[in-house]
This record gives sequence, C-alpha cells and structure tokens, in this order.
Amino acid sequence: MRDILVETSARHVHVTQETLEVLFGKGFELSVRAMLSQPGQFVSNSRVDIVGYKINKATGEKVETRIKNVSILGPVRKANQVEISLTDARTLGINAPVRESGDIAGSGPCKLVGPAGEVELSEGVIVAKRHIHMTPEDAKEFGVSNGEIVNLEVLTEGRHLIFGDVVIRVRDDFALACHIDTDESNAAGCAGTVYGRIVK
Ligand SMILES: [Zn+2]
Repeated sequence: MRDILVETSARHVHVTQETLEVLFGKGFELSVRAMLSQPGQFVSNSRVDIVGYKINKATGEKVETRIKNVSILGPVRKANQVEISLTDARTLGINAPVRESGDIAGSGPCKLVGPAGEVELSEGVIVAKRHIHMTPEDAKEFGVSNGEIVNLEVLTEGRHLIFGDVVIRVRDDFALACHIDTDESNAAGCAGTVYGRIVK
C-alpha cells in the first residue's frame, strides 16, 4: 500500500461571501495565493484577526485576546468556520471542541476582524479532527470506508508517533492526504515532506 502524505494545517478561517464583504468591503472577492492539495482549495491573499477574551481572575475584568493575520482559505463556503489548534484555543480563551469540518453546532465563539469591519461568530471555532482525505478508489485500496476511525503511523525521525482517532473522509474530488494541525505536527516532529501509513 502507498504511504500517505501527511500535511500540517496551520490555523485558518473559512468564511461566507457575506462575512467576507463585511470584513473587506462590498463586492470583495478572494484571490489565490497558493493552491492546496485538495482540488479547488486555496490559501487566499486575505488575512483576518481572530479575537476572543479571557476573564482576569483577580479583577473580574474582560481582557481581549487576539491572534493576528490568519489566512482565509477559499473558495467561500456556506458557513463560517475557524480552525485553530488547542494551543491557540488556550491563547484565545476560546473553548473549541475537536470536530470534523462542517460540524460546528455549539462550537466556540469568536470575533473576526478585517480591515473594513468585524463579524461576531456565536459558533464556528473548532479544532479540526485529524483526518485522511481520499477518493472511493483509494478507500478500496486501503480497505477503509467513509467515517471509519483508524490509526495513522507518522514516519518521522526521532518523534515517530502513531495517532489514534483519525477519521477517513471519502469523496470523489478529494486527493490522498492526511491533515493534522500544528500541535499534532510538532508532537510528531514533522518537518519537510512527511508520510504516514494506516495501521489497524
Ligand atoms: Zn483536510
């Protein structure tokens, strides 16, 4: 069986066209900075700040937290979604659950701040559940099905690691790649091009 490319997803934001226009101005459109491994998906040239808050335990005061210049990925979507690491969630004071992309009901709140305006999100902040994108043909080759949970052995030197709870995501327009976040990537010592393999 082929080894699977393991890609590290840095924190990023998906927005609706409506949100994009509040943040950047009426009629604004995302432009491509770099294409991603998944067909049609790209890192845009647009960045926003993610804003949360913490309560100062001594004074009870609300203290704003902020991570600046977070890339918006395109194309625009039907729902806003902010994907951060658990380290980011701690920095921001946002209670972000580990979820699959698209499963945002009751997830964390935040404010997005762009050059033209701000948008308060009552939910949408998640820590993406680690996953492997593949086509139906790939799924047949690996003997797995959509939604199946597998272990992925990440083949790195020095911090070799087997991740559990990796969800298989099958779609015709996916390309074979595993996505982990920066916390997971650092835990496994990922650097450069990294591959992994499914272990059952
Ligand atoms: Zn992904």
